[in-house]
Amino acid sequence: MTQAEQLAGIQQRIATACGKANRPLDSVTLLAVSKTFPLDRILEFRACGQTAFGENYLQESLDKITQLADHPDAPAIEWHFIGPIQSNKTKPIADNFQWVHSVDRLKIAQRLSDQRPPHLPPLKLLIQINTSGEASKSGVNPDEAVALCLAVSQLPNLKLHGLMTIPSNTDDMAQLKAEFLLCKSIFDALNAQGLQLDTLSMGMSSDLELAIECGSTCVRVGSALFGARA
Ligand SMILES: *Cc1c(COP(=O)(O)O)cnc(C)c1O
Repeated sequence: MTQAEQLAGIQQRIATACGKANRPLDSVTLLAVSKTFPLDRILEFRACGQTAFGENYLQESLDKITQLADHPDAPAIEWHFIGPIQSNKTKPIADNFQWVHSVDRLKIAQRLSDQRPPHLPPLKLLIQINTSGEASKSGVNPDEAVALCLAVSQLPNLKLHGLMTIPSNTDDMAQLKAEFLLCKSIFDALNAQGLQLDTLSMGMSSDLELAIECGSTCVRVGSALFGARA
């Protein structure tokens, strides 16, 4: 399959899922997760119309962003950081990304806000929720999520747009659904408190249909677009 066919296939899966969930087509965006794949693959998807790309590993992503710098397509690409964030890594993230999906501590959000260059628009932020309850997983505990989001929403150089979750690594659809719906319920509770969140980042290659059924507005798709990772 060509990359154009690969992309069209995912767009079709999203469209079918939106139809089944009675949701408008434009209520779900596709984030192409390009970790481990080189810039030329990203540019091929860009040529097919894809604009948003997600990266997990900071050094790898900075290498790609640097390589891209003088390319005519550079302004059309939107970079999303979706990996774990250590506090000594916040500065290059604040300098180089438009979106961050994986903030789970106030300290990290404060550093991103302090370090966001003044000539750039506010950094668009999602708070990662640990919906699986596994101690090893990133993400804030559901019962601490509202307080964290309210605090983050006050920071000056960030714009809190919503929530992200990575559910348990399981094929159990009922379990996955419960975790997606937990994230959606926190999202709804925050909006009921007046936060005006618009982005719920849930669903990957294997479960994007279920995530859309549960209210996702942004699916993060890697292997179903780029192929298996080494
Ligand atoms: C790798 C990754 C994805 C993409 O996973 P696929 O199963 O390859 O679609 C999505 N979100 C996050 C946070 C990831 O790390």
